[in-house]
Parts: sequence; C-alpha cells; structure tokens
Amino acid sequence: MAFEGLTERLQNAISKLRRKGKVSEADVREVMREIRLALLEADVNFQVVKDFVKTVRERAIGAEVLESLTPAQQIVKIVNDELTKVMGQEAVELAQAPKIPTIVMMVGLQGAGKTTTLGKLALKLKNEQKARPLLIAGDIYRPAAIDQLKIIGKNIDVPVFSLGTDISPVEIVRQGLAFAQEKKNDYVLIDTAGRLQVDEKLMNELAEIKQLAQPNEILLTVDAMTGQNAVDVAKGFNEQLDVTGIVLTKLDGDTRGGAALSIRAVTGKPIKFIGQGEKMTDLDVFYPDRMASRILG
Ligand code: GDP
Repeated sequence: MAFEGLTERLQNAISKLRRKGKVSEADVREVMREIRLALLEADVNFQVVKDFVKTVRERAIGAEVLESLTPAQQIVKIVNDELTKVMGQEAVELAQAPKIPTIVMMVGLQGAGKTTTLGKLALKLKNEQKARPLLIAGDIYRPAAIDQLKIIGKNIDVPVFSLGTDISPVEIVRQGLAFAQEKKNDYVLIDTAGRLQVDEKLMNELAEIKQLAQPNEILLTVDAMTGQNAVDVAKGFNEQLDVTGIVLTKLDGDTRGGAALSIRAVTGKPIKFIGQGEKMTDLDVFYPDRMASRILG
C-alpha cells in the first residue's frame, strides 16, 4: 500500500509525545529529527524536507504545542497543515477553454501511464459533465500505442482519431483538431509519444505539437513509484514545455511518498489528478488535504 512506511514512521515519532503531559523544546526537536528521517527515507526531495521541517519546528516550539495539554494532537495538526500546504493546499481543476474545444495535451515518459490516464480522463469528463471528448492518437513510435488507445476508446465509447504511424504527430494533431471542430467535440485529448528518458528529439516534437495545438492544459503524467526520479522528470518536462498540471499515477502501488510530497514544491505546478489503479474509473481529483490525512494515517 502507498505510504505505508512513511505513515508508520510518522505515527511512531509523534506517539512518543502522547506519553507526556507537557513537552519541552527538546522533545519537539527530537520528534522533528525523526520526522525528517522518515521523509528522507520516503524519498522526499532534500530541500523540500529541509523547508518542511523548519516550518513545522518553528510552529511546534511555539505556544500552540508547548503550552498545550495535548501536545501530540497539536503536532499532528501542524504536520497535517504543512503537508497539505506542501502539496498545494487546494485542489486545482482542469483548465477550460472559453469556447469549445478544451484542448488537453498529455505528455510523459513511456510507461508512466499517459495512454491509460487519457482514457480515464475521457471517461471522467463523459460521466461527470456529459462531455463529448475526442482522443487523438499522436504516439506513432511505441508499437501498439495506437491500438491500445483504440481499445480504450472502444471500451469507454469515446471516438479515437488516428492516421496510423506513417504521418508525423504534428500533422495527425492538425487533422485531429480539424475533425474535432467539425464534430463539435467539447474536449480534445491528445496522446503523445514518450521515451524511456527525457531527450531533445522528444521535447522538440512536443514543443511543435504545443505550438500548433495551443492546448489549454498540458498534463504531465508521472509514475509515483519512481520517487525522486519522477520529480526530476517533471522538472525536465516543465522547463521545456511549461506544463500546467501533473497526474501522479500508480498511487495504488507501494510508493513511498517522495513524488507526491515533492513535485509541487519542486516544479511549482499543481498535481491535478491521481491514478489509483488500472481500471478506467481509477482516476481521482487530487485533494492535498485528503492526501495529507491519508499520509498521516
Ligand atoms: P504510457 O506509455 O505512458 O502511455 O503508459 P500506459 O498508459 O501504457 O501505462 C503503462 C502501464 O501502467 C499499464 O500497464 C497501465 O495499466 C499501468 N497504469 C497506468 N496508470 C496506473 C495506475 O494508476 N495504477 C496502476 N496500478 N497501474 C497503472
């Protein structure tokens, strides 16, 4: 299960205060040392941990905790508040175009979950807004990516625009957008190619698609299981493409927590959705406060 180790360590650290009536500054410092180690072990970015611990410590050695009769509860509240803040405080909705269609471009490394997430998003829009999305199959490099998208489209009953693999992705997107205009689709969701790592050719191609499509939203899909590597990948994509939001996938796996806790602070971009399974319904809006409560257990 996700965050298991982190939750246990945070709970252990804080529980030491439960046995005390009143706590001293030294007690708080000791707990903060343990919280720091727990976060580092969960693969949270070093700078993020440093800032987080400093903020929590400053609040915790104030009157709120030291003069409280329930210091452990107070610390839990502070940690919860600050975890929420570090993950962005509020949920951020999918961007909307002033007039249809809203164009969403999905980017990310191969295997991160782009194609699956695109299907999940299309289904969500369909179910929750009665939207009529069009999927564009722009990944012409990964064998079977187009077929995969077509199968997904069929399962969720959403049309897929594809022109095979012999035409450039930019041209596919150009024609796909024209098709969507004609069919009056209200959302256009563009699947793009991923590589095993960030490279120049990939970025140039994505930049070209961005230039052409002028998307309202560039969603970056990253695999939460890859921890700090996911954060580095997000930083790379964001520097090149100025993404507008992040989807963290595979939060149903035994991810340690690093990506969820670092990515907002490192990139400045909001996590908008989380993937929590392989089924088409396993996509949820990201609520920082709910995630903080889940991490604290
Ligand atoms: P792409 O190469 O980025 O398009 O990645 P895919 O969409 O093909 O996904 C790669 C694998 O990850 C597939 O087996 C998906 O079923 C799986 N996957 C995607 N999102 C999730 C998720 O949230 N949880 C789990 N457990 N698996 C996921």
